[in-house]
Amino acid sequence: SGQSEYNLRSPICCIMGHVDTGKTKLLDCIRGTNVQEGEAGGITQQIGATYFPAENIRERTKELKADANLKVPGLLVIDTPGHESFTNLRSRGSGLCDIAILVVDIMHGLERQTIESLNLLKMRNTNFIIALNKVDRLYGWKVCHNASIVKAMKQQSKDVQFEFRTRLTQVITEFKEQGINTELYYKNKDMGKGTFSIVPTSAISAEGIPDLLLLLVQWTAKTMSERLTYNNIVQCTVLEVKVVEGLGTTIDVILVNGVLHEGDQIVVCGMQGPIVTSIRALLTPFPMKELRVKGSYEHHKEIKASQGIKINAQGLEHAIAGTSLYIVGPDDDVEDIKEAAMEDMRSVMSRVDKCGEGVYVQASTLGSLEALLEFLKTPEVSIPVCGIGIGNVHKKDVMKASVMLEKKKEYATILAFDVRVTQEAQELADEVGVKIYTADIIYHLFDQFKAYIDNLKE
Ligand code: GDP
Ligand code: MG
Repeated sequence: SGQSEYNLRSPICCIMGHVDTGKTKLLDCIRGTNVQEGEAGGITQQIGATYFPAENIRERTKELKADANLKVPGLLVIDTPGHESFTNLRSRGSGLCDIAILVVDIMHGLERQTIESLNLLKMRNTNFIIALNKVDRLYGWKVCHNASIVKAMKQQSKDVQFEFRTRLTQVITEFKEQGINTELYYKNKDMGKGTFSIVPTSAISAEGIPDLLLLLVQWTAKTMSERLTYNNIVQCTVLEVKVVEGLGTTIDVILVNGVLHEGDQIVVCGMQGPIVTSIRALLTPFPMKELRVKGSYEHHKEIKASQGIKINAQGLEHAIAGTSLYIVGPDDDVEDIKEAAMEDMRSVMSRVDKCGEGVYVQASTLGSLEALLEFLKTPEVSIPVCGIGIGNVHKKDVMKASVMLEKKKEYATILAFDVRVTQEAQELADEVGVKIYTADIIYHLFDQFKAYIDNLKE
């Protein structure tokens, strides 16, 4: 699953877009599994990565008769929850993702988080393909399982074709309003030169899925051969810190470049300082499964990029998701690397105002904390922050937030994003009068806090 004969690594692809546009379902459809129905309320709670080997993509794109040209060894797809999306997947300046799929519901057009995603993509200069999903919901759609979209469209009645064109034109106009040129992919002569491609899809009946897959791998291989050329410098990001039965605390990482070996000495950013440890086991799920799906793991002596990997090592309890993992090479000074590993954390911490008045903010990962802090800073929101934490809300966090009770009572509040509140913490909060708001979507936190403030003013 590592290198191809062309010495290219697999491109890393993020799926982004508004809630309920079908991001998880699209991944399920490509994978042939059903993660979406297993999720609470259908909303993706955690980040997963799926590796699709080239053979699989070849099989799925057979009918497009372009299979011989797959130069990349496969495709690594990352599914991202709601707002935190890209920011969470940032690896020190260089974007983790090589390309993104921006999912738009053909029945709804551009929505709030579509535009948020679009702005993140613009900001990071990341290329993307638009999946115009749910074409099967066009009234009278005739199902053509796994067909290319051109073929499927030919099977449709004049009415369906007309509705499709009307909705497509509307979406193209909405993108234009955001300053983005778009066009149906097979008509797009300007791809990569300012016009983004639209692939109509159905995640239910799989029309357009072959087109989407082929476009992803062909286009990344064609336009990013330099970026995708495998090299030995390890680039690796921690996605999640998890306790696994029988293994203890593990970290799920995305290896973007380089190679990891069992026994390698590694350094990761920790809540209480840098963590220096060594890799006890390198684990991957079996192909076509996702990291977050429970099951047995394959052990590896070494793994080459690109891959989603579970690492088992001692002392990972306080590791922080969203930061980089570093390897201590034979010529490296471990002190320098410890310094580098803590850099992500320091840069986020330094952005919190030390003015002494504000709410307490708690998030699941460094990246989501960063996204939340950025959001709270925007002029329309403008909520001051005086303290931050990562991970579940504990008593000590409530204690820190309670300091505001004396200064400015409404700021004795914890805004908790994508984390749980322990029972002791909630009890203490109720007792002393600290408010805790939790949400999985950032702007919901704002809505709750705003309602609370408005209520106080009345
Ligand atoms: P996410 O929030 O973007 O991950 O969206 P989900 O994948 O959870 O899908 C949201 C809902 O839309 C679910 O009920 C899916 O079954 C449904 N859905 C997703 N894709 C399609 C599609 O292509 N066609 C139809 N008809 N429904 C879809
Ligand atoms: Mg989802």
